[in-house]
Amino acid sequence: MTLKRRILLELLRKGVVRRKEIVESFGVAKSTLSYAIRDLRQEGKIDVLSERKGRGRPSEIVRLSPKAWKIVGVKIGREAVIGVLMDATLKEIKRTEEKVFHGMRNISGYTMLLERILEELVTKKVAAIGISVSGNVENGVVVDSPMLNINGLDLKEILKKNFSGTVSIMSDVQALSVHESFKYGGDRFLIVNYGLGIGACWCESGKNRVLPIGHIVVDRSGEMCYCGQRGCLETVASDYANLKAFTHGDFTITEFVEYEHERYEDKLLKLWELSKKEPEKVRKIYDKSLDMLSMVIGNLVVLFQPEKVSFYGEGIAGWMVNEVEERVKLNFKRQGVEKVRFHFRGEDDAFEKGAAFKAAVEFLREEVKV
Ligand SMILES: [Zn+2]
Repeated sequence: MTLKRRILLELLRKGVVRRKEIVESFGVAKSTLSYAIRDLRQEGKIDVLSERKGRGRPSEIVRLSPKAWKIVGVKIGREAVIGVLMDATLKEIKRTEEKVFHGMRNISGYTMLLERILEELVTKKVAAIGISVSGNVENGVVVDSPMLNINGLDLKEILKKNFSGTVSIMSDVQALSVHESFKYGGDRFLIVNYGLGIGACWCESGKNRVLPIGHIVVDRSGEMCYCGQRGCLETVASDYANLKAFTHGDFTITEFVEYEHERYEDKLLKLWELSKKEPEKVRKIYDKSLDMLSMVIGNLVVLFQPEKVSFYGEGIAGWMVNEVEERVKLNFKRQGVEKVRFHFRGEDDAFEKGAAFKAAVEFLREEVKV
């Protein structure tokens, strides 16, 4: 990798860096670095600013120029397709959303919604697009997603028709893993995405593996899941189960997935709000869910021995993560479980941000003519 690419990648990761730090961490001659920085500045890719602290010579700080290029992050989910246009430093410029209604949860529906988002956000300045999608992704194709009701959606092909820059397509939990390591660091960790769907990802030394824990069977004679199995974790421990307990409702998980906006959205938003602001009012409703969830997470912790487990997703709140941690540490006594850190992240935009970051890194590695 050339020195200029290394500098751009470092700035993408760290935001603002002192010129002195680059010299020290890159181990190159001061003059070589000065040439690279001068060139990048002339090309409009970086800004060099001076920072005065106390007396003496001001120190120089270097950052990516927000105008250097633009990146788009997209989240394709069960309930909506969301697109975010960001500047080079991944600061949000514009956000747009297309809701997924009944009858649109199929290949042609998602293709149409994605094309609308691209039409709205993609301009000449966009260098890369990162896409996070619920389901199994292989080489840019969503091979299987019970949640979106699609098999074989070729996102790469749709993108090719609409865009000629760098494209990076990953599953939603992979986008979260990228976001986690970009923002918080770490080398061995588990990501859990909690909402109606429950997903996980194991990350070790920069590599990740998707763990579809939402469809682990926890009750063989349980409810029929929308994936075709009986008694999946999602039928008893997800937002579907929580909403059913909250409303004493009589509906199936398949109905819930199909008609969320039309029938259940208001009540689900109400439940989330209570869970986040007045948890004591709804704590009991979540009891069974959290018990099942902590059993599955506890088993994963025993198997993988992570340093930390980080929770994302619209359906999760800080107190829920504390409960899961307590139950895991109470019920699993294997060595090492005690030391595992549990983190509540929430951060609803982590999907788009993670996907955009991955796309930006790939763009810098492959495309930048430096
Ligand atoms: Zn299932």
